[in-house]
Amino acid sequence: MKLSLNTLVTELPGVGTKYQKLLSKLNIKRVKDLLFHFPNRYEDFSKITPISNLQLGEVQTVKGKLYQVRNKVTKRGFVLTTALVSDNTGSIKAVWFNQPFLVDVLKEGGWFLLSGKVKSGFREITLQNPIYERAKVNQTHTGRIVPFYSETEGLTSRWLRYKIKYLLDGGIINKTEEWLPENIRNGRILKDPKVKLVDFPFAIRQIHFPQTKDLLKLAQYRLGFDELFSIQLSNLLTKKRWQRQKGCPIKFDRKLINKFVKSLSFKLTDSQRIVSWQILQDLEKNAPMNRLLEGDVGSGKTVVATMAMLETVKQGYQAVIMAPTEILAHQHFEEVSKMLSPFKVKIGLITHSEAKLDKKKISKKKLLEKIAKGDIEIIIGTHTLIQDELKFKNQALIIIDEQHRFGVGQRAKLNQKSKINPHYLTMTATPIPRTLALTLYSDLDLSIIDEMPPGRQKVITKIVDSQNREKAYKFIKDQIKSGRQAFVICPLIEESDRLEVKSAIKEHRKLSQKIFPEFKVGLLHGKLKPKEKQKVMKDFKNKSINILVSTSVVEVGIDIPNATIMMIEGAERFGLAQLYQFRGRVGRGKHQSYCFLFYNSSSWKTRKRLEAIIRAKSGFELAELDLKLRGPGEIYGLKQSGLPDLKMASLSDLALIKHTHEASQVIINRDSNLKKYPKLREKLEEFENERKKLR
Ligand code: ADP
Ligand code: MG
Repeated sequence: MKLSLNTLVTELPGVGTKYQKLLSKLNIKRVKDLLFHFPNRYEDFSKITPISNLQLGEVQTVKGKLYQVRNKVTKRGFVLTTALVSDNTGSIKAVWFNQPFLVDVLKEGGWFLLSGKVKSGFREITLQNPIYERAKVNQTHTGRIVPFYSETEGLTSRWLRYKIKYLLDGGIINKTEEWLPENIRNGRILKDPKVKLVDFPFAIRQIHFPQTKDLLKLAQYRLGFDELFSIQLSNLLTKKRWQRQKGCPIKFDRKLINKFVKSLSFKLTDSQRIVSWQILQDLEKNAPMNRLLEGDVGSGKTVVATMAMLETVKQGYQAVIMAPTEILAHQHFEEVSKMLSPFKVKIGLITHSEAKLDKKKISKKKLLEKIAKGDIEIIIGTHTLIQDELKFKNQALIIIDEQHRFGVGQRAKLNQKSKINPHYLTMTATPIPRTLALTLYSDLDLSIIDEMPPGRQKVITKIVDSQNREKAYKFIKDQIKSGRQAFVICPLIEESDRLEVKSAIKEHRKLSQKIFPEFKVGLLHGKLKPKEKQKVMKDFKNKSINILVSTSVVEVGIDIPNATIMMIEGAERFGLAQLYQFRGRVGRGKHQSYCFLFYNSSSWKTRKRLEAIIRAKSGFELAELDLKLRGPGEIYGLKQSGLPDLKMASLSDLALIKHTHEASQVIINRDSNLKKYPKLREKLEEFENERKKLR
């Protein structure tokens, strides 16, 4: 066979336009893509059960001779194919539905393996819809551990097995190459060489057609290692490259910082002090900073950012803060202006809909000119504008609020905007568990604010089932009558903005017409124009709206101290960490606040899961729990993080994370350009190209 890894799948026998299209839906264009389309589950059909020992209700495999293979049309027009299968212990009837062609495949007198559920029905015990395959030395579909693939319509696991087996039997494995250095595989250069990694071609073969469960485990570990090792190595290299850049050191100005801290109306928390110290020290270095600041909503990240910006501008450079939404840019502008009022800093705001300089409106053109000349020292805006139109004079610090919404590509663009390599601080309220952050974001340094400012009241949290809904509504009514306000969050509807908006509109109608007709109910969702959104937020802030119905967009930091109610519909659909963040919207003023989690499920487990919110001390704790209970995909924000889908590795496998972390560190320490490891370098380049496409 003259197949290579790069051969187009259309060159394979039996792959015409129809299959080409189906395969391309799964992103499979070449032989190697097919080979790297890993199974997503397995069934163990390796044990053959004598027919006389079959157990009702079990999925089992028999091996026998076929007799009486017939098609029969039922009264309702279905085609039933039946066959009698016999071994030397007995016989059982096998039944297939609507596959009339089987009479030609299932040859009478032939030996076959059948795997299926033993059921009683049709007044007899039958094997229903069994997977079938002629008995041979090397089985593909049954009589072994059988792979099942993620399928699209019209493309079955059976078909995929045929093709992949064809490739493997044709020796394609010999075209794949081991790319991990031997000393990593045998663990000899690691501190903890417990785990040996099986070689790559072997792992590929075993992942598709495992000989035993143990070998399958070894293959899964090896291929999982490859994924996490690639991410970690790539991150470490990025970090090295970053550190080789010449930065713009900003001296630690103790006097200024002291003055700033004294000017605040509150005392910094210990956490805030520690992270500020880390950041201010980073700014002094010759290489630019690249740091991730994590902290729950309301933990006070803005002050920390403001401190760093103040120091930067007082040494003659510009500082920039980018927010993901106009509402937030606005809020930052207000807050930063207030905090810096004793320091006479020129602060500009630039968003899609407006431009401001020190509280006064100004034309966008003027503002851009002033920024380019360096007349404006702190620039606050949304990312779109900052990207496209802006020229800075000398920006030395860039602060990005809400990390996951910005790709690495966008940052690179910003870098091109000046001769200085600016310091980067990315802030996020997504509580990414430390282990995950250290893996996924290991190109960044990490600072965590893990305590809340003192005096924050405890939000009373209630999990409300349908019987207590009326009571909760009554309570909310009383709160609003006494002058408070409420947020209502609509259920998350997966992957669909349109449906989410629809459900918010429906909820708004219900609440404004039926439940709370005496109050003003506002509506906020992602399809509103920025101006409209801003108006709604303004109305809510100045209390002309009592209740704000919203999709999950309000999740991003908004400060309304008079809002004391957070009501969440369909709470069971959200991750715990995300619910925690919603709740953080209330409890910011002097009044006691409440969070109501409405849920639609009779399951005890659902309720138990939600109860974790009541006990949790931080968003990090809940994120760890989400990671355990629902997997990393459910940690809010991770989906947008621009990482390639992990096919094999589990981000909750701490041993694997540790192993790959150490291995990547050792390699980089030995040879940071990978000169001694050309295959590794090649593989990594491939990986980074894939990653770029996603960002
Ligand atoms: P986030 O981390 O969500 O961005 P903010 O920076 O917006 O939080 O801070 C939330 C509120 O807490 C702001 O009103 C801020 O002034 C206040 N705040 C910040 N730090 C402290 C502190 N140490 N003590 C009291 N209040 C604080
Ligand atoms: Mg914030």
